[in-house]
Amino acid sequence: MAIDGPFVGSSSVGAAGSASGGDPSTEAGPFPYPLPDDAARIVLCHSCQGKNRVLLQRAFDQPDKLRCGRCQQALLIGKESPLRGLQGKMYQHPLDQKSLAALEAVPGVSTLLRKLVEATVERYDSLFNESSFVRVGGTQLPTVERLFERAAYALDVRELPALYVYQGAEANAFTGGVEAPYIAMTSTLLDGMSDDEVMAVLAHELAHMQSRHVLYKTAARLLGFAAAELAKVTLGIGGLVMVPLQLALLSWDRCSELTADRGMLLAVRDPAIALRVLMKLAGGSARLGRELSLARFMEQALRARQAGDEDVMSRVFTLLQTAWRSHPFPLWRAAELWRWACQGEYLNLLQSAA
Ligand SMILES: [Zn+2]
Ligand SMILES: [Zn+2]
Repeated sequence: MAIDGPFVGSSSVGAAGSASGGDPSTEAGPFPYPLPDDAARIVLCHSCQGKNRVLLQRAFDQPDKLRCGRCQQALLIGKESPLRGLQGKMYQHPLDQKSLAALEAVPGVSTLLRKLVEATVERYDSLFNESSFVRVGGTQLPTVERLFERAAYALDVRELPALYVYQGAEANAFTGGVEAPYIAMTSTLLDGMSDDEVMAVLAHELAHMQSRHVLYKTAARLLGFAAAELAKVTLGIGGLVMVPLQLALLSWDRCSELTADRGMLLAVRDPAIALRVLMKLAGGSARLGRELSLARFMEQALRARQAGDEDVMSRVFTLLQTAWRSHPFPLWRAAELWRWACQGEYLNLLQSAA
């Protein structure tokens, strides 16, 4: 079955005010992937406040084609328009919020981590990057620069950080530099992804910046050196006392990915692209890319999500994160992102400001 198949159905927008009461879609479990033809939700008209029932697939494929049934104004902005005034907190995942609060409850954490980062990576990062990585810009990798600008424009990020490409066996990208921010991505990632997917990855990294994640992300990378020891301790193998700061930082680090994934979707405005990125991070193959099935991947992701108790999973994740630090748990994230696209704030954030 085609994932990006044409919209099936006749009328996307019902009569204004047709949905009284709550939106049933928010109470049900996550939608399957691909969506059933009749999967719909209510979108409020920004101009007249009328309630419009819209077919989700149509909203994902052609957001700018949806009109309000009452006043005929556009309901959502198009894929090429920037999300003016977008801020990280507007799409922050609740788990990010919660774990950040826990992290910041550790006394003096912000000052401590800032000092740690300033004394170590901040001083050497730009020197290291400039002498090791290829800097994108001008006539250097113009395709990547164009995708970077598109991602920034969509998220209304006005100041672009430095962008680097480096040789690495893993498909990976990361953001660093508190005073002088930068983004770096591996050539493996570049080679395994389409232009749209590369743009999505860059948007994910820009979302980390827009959400002010960079200081803590950098600290998490630094403290990651001690993480194996930490896992040993937590699993009861060692006899030491758990360091609460490290645990809080690891837990937050993982949850911050959920927020950045939302930023990625807000930039590309097509769940299939964002989910495919997560699939490729999980197990992409440049050679057999055509055989990768997004539908099967999502089936697996949604099944895994139903299986685990959120609380237990969260604790296990914090421990296991050490095994795969940069972009952990792509299937968990895919299920979260899909739920947000269908039932969360995603479409509300795309509401036309007209
Ligand atoms: Zn209206
Ligand atoms: Zn990330």
